[in-house]
Amino acid sequence: MVELRPQNRTLTGALPRDRPSAARAHRVYVATTNHCNRACPWCSTCSSPRGQTWLSLADYLACFPGAGLFEVQLEGGEPTLHPQLLEFVDLARAEPRCVRVVIVTNGVVVPRAPEQLRGWLARLGAPLTIKLSINHHLLAQDRELLTLAADIRAALRELGDERELVLNVRLRRDAPGEDAWVIEAVREAGLIELANVFHLQAYGFAAEREGWDAPFVVGTNFTLVNPDGETHGPDLVGRSEAMRVLP
Ligand code: SF4
Repeated sequence: MVELRPQNRTLTGALPRDRPSAARAHRVYVATTNHCNRACPWCSTCSSPRGQTWLSLADYLACFPGAGLFEVQLEGGEPTLHPQLLEFVDLARAEPRCVRVVIVTNGVVVPRAPEQLRGWLARLGAPLTIKLSINHHLLAQDRELLTLAADIRAALRELGDERELVLNVRLRRDAPGEDAWVIEAVREAGLIELANVFHLQAYGFAAEREGWDAPFVVGTNFTLVNPDGETHGPDLVGRSEAMRVLP
């Protein structure tokens, strides 16, 4: 059973950025694939380099709500590895009822050279939210990840107001210092005000972790979609368990 919370605060005491509210349109969280070029041992969507399931354009279009405004969050696995990512973005932009595109990425294949990065972000259109994942595993693999974050922030500012960067910072409760070094690295990079810092929750590959936070959701005005096209309403754990058994 997933706990329903009216609101929550991040570990820095701030209200989360990009948080659900009564005013926010229905959000469709689309796991475009269970393939990832990283292998976080507690991945909440049971994704890894072994994943081989890729969402089709037809299943993607079928998950758009039949009425009302909505937002699309393209996630995974790693959505930037899906060969049709730009088609997913364009189909969302072509639907007048879609009011925002959100992309959750580990940044591995996001262009790093400033001009290419700016061009890639511009191509995604607006309104746009980039959510960059930050955790001990990703930072250890990529010492330049926070430099990328700073460059994305600068490029989005240059491109305009309807674009924002959020850092999804996740910490392990059972790590020495509970991964305090991860927060410190974000702070030292001058990015803490963009960070939603939370402890990892016990679902997905972390379902058996003792002492980790139980999963919770804030509101239920969203739909979860898996790479095989199956939809799971707001059932965070059911969605994750379905991801676990996908090829
Ligand atoms: S947490 Fe994100 S980056 Fe890590 S394996 Fe899962 S999808 Fe990939």
